[in-house]
Amino acid sequence: MTTDAFIGLGSNLENPAAQLAQAVAALASLPDSVLVAQSPFYASRPVGPQDQPDFVNGAVWLRTTLRPHELLDHLQSIEQRHGRERLRHWGPRTLDLDLLVFGNQTLADERLTVPHKELPNRDFVLQPLLDLEPALALPDGRTVKELRQHCPDNDLHKLPPVAREPFTPS
Ligand code: ATP
Ligand code: MG
Ligand code: MG
Repeated sequence: MTTDAFIGLGSNLENPAAQLAQAVAALASLPDSVLVAQSPFYASRPVGPQDQPDFVNGAVWLRTTLRPHELLDHLQSIEQRHGRERLRHWGPRTLDLDLLVFGNQTLADERLTVPHKELPNRDFVLQPLLDLEPALALPDGRTVKELRQHCPDNDLHKLPPVAREPFTPS
């Protein structure tokens, strides 16, 4: 079965926009998946600890026949290749890839909660989703558009487009 999956990307270390551009290339070459579109990138203030650099965020739309946990495995291995270290909760990171929406599926287990639990509270997630698909709705019927209207403002700034990096398998 083919599913429309939406993935959120974030980085605030080591040239964040380049981290994101490279991650988009890696996502575009995942097995059993096609990249439908990528959003613009946005600069935003950090969530949680404020003593860290601003973030760059974006989202991509994939059409995939992977199962959700298989997709999460791939997201985590891309994070690892980008030197992601989990030092502190909501701390600085080279790359964060979150599975935001997976078709109309609702999942909650120890590894995976979908839709992503913080999605309604984060303008830096909702805005790129709106850019990708203005009509997107969650399985419970709430639209991303209405969630965005009620979401706290995090001082988002749209960044100029970044050229897509060539994908180099490691
Ligand atoms: P947040 O979830 O608030 O955005 P975070 O992205 O910094 O925080 P991580 O350290 O990247 O959190 O991930 C912690 C755990 O969250 C992962 O080990 C993963 O199993 C789990 N997780 C649960 N739901 C999801 C999801 N939808 N996408 C990605 N990871 C998820
Ligand atoms: Mg996250
Ligand atoms: Mg994460």
